[in-house]
Amino acid sequence: MVSLTPHLKRFGKQLEQIAYRGLDQHLRIGITGLSRAGKTALITSIVHQLTHANRQQLPMWQALAQGRVLGVQRVPQPDLTMLPFDYDGAMTALTSNPPQWPESTRGLAEIRLAIRFAPQGGIKRQLADHLTLYLDLVDYPGEWLLDLPLLELDYGSWCQQQWQWLEQQPWLEVSQRWLQLSQQQSGADETQVAEVAQHYSKLLQQLRLEQGATFLQPGRALLPGDLEGTPILAFYPQQPQQVDQNSALTQMLTQRFEAYKEQVVKPFYRNHFSKFDRQLVLIDSLAALNHGRAQVEQMSQSLQGVLQSFHYGPGSLLRRMLSPRIDKLLFVAGKADHISIDQHTNLLALTDSLMGASGKRIRFSGAQSESMVLSAIRASEPGQVDDGSGPVAVIRGFDQQQNRVMRFPGEVPRQLPPEHFWRQQGFDFTPLAPPRELTVDGPMPHMRMDHLIDWMLGDKLS
Ligand code: GDP
Repeated sequence: MVSLTPHLKRFGKQLEQIAYRGLDQHLRIGITGLSRAGKTALITSIVHQLTHANRQQLPMWQALAQGRVLGVQRVPQPDLTMLPFDYDGAMTALTSNPPQWPESTRGLAEIRLAIRFAPQGGIKRQLADHLTLYLDLVDYPGEWLLDLPLLELDYGSWCQQQWQWLEQQPWLEVSQRWLQLSQQQSGADETQVAEVAQHYSKLLQQLRLEQGATFLQPGRALLPGDLEGTPILAFYPQQPQQVDQNSALTQMLTQRFEAYKEQVVKPFYRNHFSKFDRQLVLIDSLAALNHGRAQVEQMSQSLQGVLQSFHYGPGSLLRRMLSPRIDKLLFVAGKADHISIDQHTNLLALTDSLMGASGKRIRFSGAQSESMVLSAIRASEPGQVDDGSGPVAVIRGFDQQQNRVMRFPGEVPRQLPPEHFWRQQGFDFTPLAPPRELTVDGPMPHMRMDHLIDWMLGDKLS
């Protein structure tokens, strides 16, 4: 007679494995922020800190301090249609001689980590000694979130909105030529329209780089991702007086504007945004301060535009389109190594004030939200010098030409300073080179990355 015991044993083992797998968890985190906010540096740092988890480096990560993190490794990403986040490329740049910052975000990219941990107690602990949390980090440009407000605009209203700011100083200095070029275009010739649209996208790039502009629509004109060169991006805002629904040009541009909303903006929300469990939004308030008041004001407007994507109370635009499931939202004021530590609370206050009422409303729409100041990859050392009147805080590091520098970063305002402040004093939070002597497996200096990791993962590793 055939013994059933081995079969039963095998069946029991399979059941056990299924039960364990059921306990394994997935967490998908979207990481966004406007261009140059520091997304690439932040994701590189998260991956490095997690895969080299070390209690001295990350003292505030509770699960690690309790000895319950058994190992973290990179595993193949789940979505094979998405670009992989280039962690190795980023580490090559950071560890080169002299060290370079990695290439910035240009589109959607993801990376998956498997975190093996021992559950803290309760039913999970009784069922398994160890479990795995699969963590997906998804990088995408914040500019794409600035497209959400387009869904509530028709082409004519969008033209009015765009021209209103492009015709104002300080932007006019750069935009004047394009404004003239677009006024000269009257026919619906495909090639000519595509050319004006291309110049419009170059104008947006120039406004961003030279003038520190941030409210740039459509987001894909700036960062097209896989849509580069496609006709769906071949539209631009006409001068409001020229918008005429009987003209072939206005009809063509309106049609493309509507197609962009239907075929680019909505699918991004449906296919990607709606799948995030948590979100980190990076904000570089210091860069805006460097430019001037108009830039800080526009940054605040852009941030509030970005934040619309997180207002999904009843009746909101997003709720009508999909059912978002974000349960935690973190606003990160990054690059805090550009200022002295005593200014971190001011940076937090400034960032909160730039988010305005919009930030407060999020707190009522279901997701747990918080703001944090940190530096993903710390490129400076704090210090003090005596200038004769007492000790003054300084930071030391290397500038982008690799010269050793010592800076007096000064005070960060708690809110938007008045116009005369820039005329008298201004700010100088200019970029630093990455820290020296980073190695692929050595420690990566940071500020508060352990807080960030604990906030992101703490409850999932309990
Ligand atoms: P992205 O466009 O959002 O992906 O921005 P990046 O991550 O490429 O960052 C843009 C630039 O910000 C980098 O090239 C660095 O100059 C700077 N940066 C980003 N993170 C840090 C940081 O933690 N410390 C310092 N000092 N600079 C940073």
